[in-house]
Amino acid sequence: MTSSSTTKKKFPLHLKILIGMVAGILFGIGMWSVSGGKDLIMDWIKPLGTIFVNLLKLIAIPLIVASLIKGISDLKDISKFRKMGGRSILLYIGTTIVAICIGLLMVNIIRPGEGMPQETIQKMTDTYAGNSNISEKFAEADSQISSGPLDFLVDMVPSNVFQALGDNGNMLQVIFFVIFFGIAMLLIPEEKAKPLKDFFDGLNDVILKMVDLIMLSAPYAVFALMASVVVSSEDPAILVGLLGYALTVVGGLFLMIVFYLILVGLVVKKNPFWFLKQLAPAQLLAFTTSSSAATLPVTMERVEEHLGVEKEVASFVLPVGATINMDGTSLYQAVAAVFIAQTLGVDLTFGDQMIIILTALMASIGSAAVPGAGMVMLIIVLQAIGKFDPVQIQIGLALIFAVDRPLDMLRTTVNVTGDATVSMMVAKSLGKLGDPHVQEWDDHLENFGGDQKH
Ligand code: ASP
Repeated sequence: MTSSSTTKKKFPLHLKILIGMVAGILFGIGMWSVSGGKDLIMDWIKPLGTIFVNLLKLIAIPLIVASLIKGISDLKDISKFRKMGGRSILLYIGTTIVAICIGLLMVNIIRPGEGMPQETIQKMTDTYAGNSNISEKFAEADSQISSGPLDFLVDMVPSNVFQALGDNGNMLQVIFFVIFFGIAMLLIPEEKAKPLKDFFDGLNDVILKMVDLIMLSAPYAVFALMASVVVSSEDPAILVGLLGYALTVVGGLFLMIVFYLILVGLVVKKNPFWFLKQLAPAQLLAFTTSSSAATLPVTMERVEEHLGVEKEVASFVLPVGATINMDGTSLYQAVAAVFIAQTLGVDLTFGDQMIIILTALMASIGSAAVPGAGMVMLIIVLQAIGKFDPVQIQIGLALIFAVDRPLDMLRTTVNVTGDATVSMMVAKSLGKLGDPHVQEWDDHLENFGGDQKH
């Protein structure tokens, strides 16, 4: 490394990502009015963003396997693992209930659905009721409903580990197998387990380095993703009609972030602004990709290296959280369900709102961590209330569809922030919150010829 590189101050990656985002939005807006602009972005720019998201998904499963096996095999005392599991689940359920209650409070106080002009409702219904995206969501919701009450337990145990590893949607199956494997490793003589442990140690470091390398391209990728989101978004005139609803969700999500910051300050006893700053790259990625699963590798990297949560906690709590903890999603579902009822003139009793709390909680556990999954589970919430006929549910989804993508981006950011907050609380309670051991994205790159450190 040359001396100049050490003296030069590096421009932080999260600022570069932010610049990429803003530039992508501006470019998308600029291209909106240019003829052929949308095609140009979709054909030539969006693929860069898709490659980036694929790269992140590519390493998610190997990262979970390597880091969880390393985490468990480093454990001295297996009872800590049980405590960690219990506390994570309780905190996940607790924060999700808080999120749903905030959503319900906001929508009942603001009442964004009351007095919505009939012609706006008609326009939305005409535009979106037959939309193929909405029909797909109904089909997905149907397949979720047809499963039995204990199927979620059965689904957690894979019958073929390679099949489970081969599908990013099977995160819980992978976690189940890896925990089983890790515990068995603890139960065989140490010298026999050592080669495996060393192997997974090395694998873990390599994958974390892959996260770093992928993140170096993040500013360009978010540019591509944001530009494509902007050019494929809906007519702004339609969005205006939904402003009250959208602002209610946004206000609720904001309060949820404040709630996390209070938890970080009071329970974890860390500076909330420091927490936000360290987590920022993961939040920005969650926002641009709308997928907590795709963001997971970066969330794990930030929480472990920059927030100081020890590996055995981060490697369990975060993948589980990405799968079952979606505070932003359940808050949105609560607001959306009541908003639809208000718009269609359906009266919801206190009991109905209790049903929303229960089903939105289950939906948060059942939702996939991918774009648009929250809307599928919203169908199930609406059906569970039992006061909407199928046509009303169709109209309801058509009503909120236009603003779903921007709200998805925001709720995914909240989902990821919630996972990180819970991982810090669990780590703190088990004495496993240490000092951050920051590794820079571009550490060691100078070994490849050329000084890349500025
Ligand atoms: N996109 C969200 C996530 O990945 C899920 C949803 O709310 O649709 O966390």
